[in-house]
Parts: sequence; structure tokens; C-alpha cells
Amino acid sequence: MTSFFIHPFGCRVNQAEAFDWAAALQKKGWRLAEEDSQGEIVIINTCTLTARADRDGRRYIRKIAQENPRARLVVTGCLAERDPEGVKALPGVWRVVANADKDALAGQCAAGESPETAVRAEEPVSYRVRALVKAQDGCDMACAFCVIPSVRGRSRSVPVLDLWTRVEELVSAGYAEIVLAGIHLCSYGRDLRPPSSLLELLSGIEELPGDFRLRLSSLDPRLLSRPLLDFLTGSRRIAPHFHLSLQHGADRILRLMGRESTNASYRELCAELERRSPEANLGADIIVGFPGETERDYEETVRLLEESPLAYAHVFSYSARPGTKAAERPAVDRATVKSRADRLRRLSGRKNLAYRRRLIGRTLPGVVIQSKPGGLEVLTSNYVDVLVSGAAAPLGSPVHVRIAAAGERDTTGELRGRDGFRS
Ligand code: SF4
Repeated sequence: MTSFFIHPFGCRVNQAEAFDWAAALQKKGWRLAEEDSQGEIVIINTCTLTARADRDGRRYIRKIAQENPRARLVVTGCLAERDPEGVKALPGVWRVVANADKDALAGQCAAGESPETAVRAEEPVSYRVRALVKAQDGCDMACAFCVIPSVRGRSRSVPVLDLWTRVEELVSAGYAEIVLAGIHLCSYGRDLRPPSSLLELLSGIEELPGDFRLRLSSLDPRLLSRPLLDFLTGSRRIAPHFHLSLQHGADRILRLMGRESTNASYRELCAELERRSPEANLGADIIVGFPGETERDYEETVRLLEESPLAYAHVFSYSARPGTKAAERPAVDRATVKSRADRLRRLSGRKNLAYRRRLIGRTLPGVVIQSKPGGLEVLTSNYVDVLVSGAAAPLGSPVHVRIAAAGERDTTGELRGRDGFRS
């Protein structure tokens, strides 16, 4: 029996694609390998958002080629799209699959193979425990730093009915949490004929039967309309965890980035979300060291993170991406970027600790994402990883946990219910 392994880098969309390939290959009878060193076919879904993502992808390919020389490596994703020749020249690479051909990837891997080969992903537990659904791909925005529209193309949405059906199938298959992913999820439906919207999609999912939660990938604050906000904060399905791409706290830099939002509008949005959903976990993507960023600009980002209800930030050090407008501008020196990013990450850590401490004593719904002899790891609907010692519950099951303590490294709790989200 042939074995497979999948390693997705980067965003939730890459993970959702891996989730689909894993299911398709297993359906063909392939066996999911325990580790990448055991896969006869290793699929690598690359990212090219930053120079570091490029390096990580190439390094991983070389590592697998060295540690598992008999493996045939299938490389796809945004790095493979941007630099197919460079990727093809790396050791062990068997096929390079363009982003446009990704949907057929599982079939291409299996072509000419025994119908008994198998694949496994970087986070094998999450593939079994939380389902991922790709609702949308591509992006019509043109942020000055971003290479994604050039490698993913224009925004394309999966038809509403297909997604409702897919979610229904996954819920019937026993998934208690479904992650809805898109490169620019807020653009969902604009390209469909007749047009649809994220609000329409979510409203239909809300009515589906079953006891499940829906987690949304990153949302663009520029497109969060009032009706959508009303829905997100009033829904019984949507996890109270909103990742709102910010990118920068200074209006001057936001303009240079080509993002028509402001520090004030972002603050207002966070305050509104906090007012409506006080336990919601709010997070942001922030870029540090965008070309032209002054100390004063940077301090505006620091203040925004400090003063807003954001509970965490994914901090990226700016790196020039080929072909983007920002790459033509003079860069901030690397030492400055590093020290600014380090400080912002420390602040994010402190804010996250404060957020988790506020939850002590609260009982929250969640899903068991790891089950070990010593206890469980539960991911709460507001996206806190809680360690529960001495308890047992099936992997993927919906439970309730009471938060007992929150430290710098982890959050601990006690199991308070095992009969679903509604208990
Ligand atoms: S919204 Fe901007 S940052 Fe996000 S994928 Fe589109 S171009 Fe890139």
C-alpha cells in the first residue's frame, strides 16, 4: 500500500486544500503516513507571503529529500506558482503543480499509482478533529506589499449551495468544528452569478441541523458591513474569535500600503466587537518595517495594539516580494525591523496573557483536539488552548471546560460537560 504525507505551509486556505486532498486520497485507498519520513509521496503546499516562507518551503523540501530519498515530492502552492523552475530544480521534486491545477492534485498524484497509496498532513490531528472548508480563493485587492493576488489570481467563490452541502456532510460525519477559509473571505460571493455574499453563506449555515461551531479565517475590516457584524455577533454557530487584518496602525503607512482604512476605524470596529461580544478573542496581522515606516508610525501601531481589545497579533517583519509596488521603495534597516517586531511580539504575548487571565473561572465550549493518557487538550470556541489533566473524552468531541489558571506558557482547566456545545 502506497503511503502519503501532506505538509501545508502558510494560511488556512492551504490547510483546507490539504484537508481535501487527504480525504480524496484516502478515498482512493491510500494510507496516511505517520511521519513525512515514511511517505512515499509527500505533498508540499507552499507559501510565498514572505521571504521567510520561501526559505522555510525550500528548506523543508531539501530536508525531506535528504531524510526520505525514496519519496516523490509533489510541490504546489504559492511559492511553486511564483518560481516553478526554481522549485523543480530542488532535490527530490517529482511534480510541480500550478495553483490552477490544485483541485485535480489528488487525481494527478494517484494517476498511474496503485489505488492503495496514502497521505498525511503537517497537523494530522487537526485534519481529523476540525474540518476545513475552502469557500473562496484569490483576491481583487492590491495591497502594495502583497504578492498573493499575482499567484492566486482574482477572487473566486465556491457556490453557496455546494458549501452548504459540504458543511452538512462534514457535520454528519461528526465534525464539531468547521473552519471556513478564504484568501479574502469578506469578498465571498461577489464573483458569483447571481452574486452572493458572506452574509448569505453564513445565514444558510446557521440554519443547518447539528451541534457544531463555525470558525472563520481572517476578515478584512474594510468589508465588515453593519449587517454582517450584527450576524457575526448574534450567531449561535460562529466562534467568537475574529482575526481582523490590520497590517499597520499609522494612517500614513496604510495609505502607502493601498489600504483604505484608518487607525480610528479599526479601533471603532474592535470596540464595537468587544461591546457586543465581550469574550471574543480578537486578533490582528501586523507588518513591521514597511518601507518608509518611521519610529513615529511604528509607535502608532504599538499604541493601537496596547489600547485596543486585541488579544493577540501575528507580527510579520516586512520583506520585499518580487513584483509588488512596495518592493520598489527603500527598505527600513533590518536591525530596526527586528527590534520593532520583537517588541511588538512581546506586547502581543502580554495582551494574550491578560486576555486568558480574564477568562479564569469561566466555563467555555470547546473541542477536544488532543487526547493523551495524561489528559486532554481542548480548543475553546474563543480559540484558547486549554490543558485538562486526568480527563478523558473522544478526540473531536464537543465539551465544556472551566478555565482554572492562565500562565505565560499555557492555560489549564477542568472538564465541565461532555454533552455537546449546548450542554
Ligand atoms: S487583501 Fe491585501 S493582503 Fe490580503 S490577500 Fe488581498 S492583497 Fe494580499
